[in-house]
Amino acid sequence: MRTLRVEVINGMERLIQGYKRFVTEVFPTRRTQFHLLAESQAPEWLFITCSDSRIVPDLILNSGPGDLFITRNAGNVVPVASHDVDGVTATIEYAVEVLRVKHAILCGHSDCGALKAALDVRNLENLPKAKRWLSHVEAAFHHRQPLNPADGDSAELASLIRGNVVAQWLNLRAQPAVAQAMEEARLSVHAWYYDILTGRIEQYDEKAEQFLPLI
Ligand SMILES: [Zn+2]
Repeated sequence: MRTLRVEVINGMERLIQGYKRFVTEVFPTRRTQFHLLAESQAPEWLFITCSDSRIVPDLILNSGPGDLFITRNAGNVVPVASHDVDGVTATIEYAVEVLRVKHAILCGHSDCGALKAALDVRNLENLPKAKRWLSHVEAAFHHRQPLNPADGDSAELASLIRGNVVAQWLNLRAQPAVAQAMEEARLSVHAWYYDILTGRIEQYDEKAEQFLPLI
């Protein structure tokens, strides 16, 4: 047990060292920015993405404190609008109604474990809560996108992941607060697919009904 405890402390050391650097080097250079942000926020973007550790929005988008209002979960899910309350939809409502974000971005990613699990539910046999949660991604199968040869061996999975982005984007648009804000032309809603291997983002083009490079 003693060995295990030492390993746990050492594992934390990397983060504590990182925090020390933040306090001594980073914070002092951005003191004014944090001072301005200390009592209010006015983010322009709501960003909904997967919990996956490889997705680092501020790194990908060159954004920083105060920019993105973020909610994350396994599979970048937006539950279907209903009377049920959950953390995702409550966060969306707050972002749209109170913070008045101008854009909502739903961002999925390559190699997403949530969609891998959806393809093989045996992976979820010992995970009853994850299994229930991931029933939200079943709609991905109805929105599968064409296979893209550039995705190589992962083409089938990538087509399902893009399908999930479309499915969750539709759920997002159907959220009452979002639908109302879109009606009032004060919110636009975007669907993105981020490729971890290449760093590229594709955006779903509603008119073309396909994913196209963001830039
Ligand atoms: Zn994921």
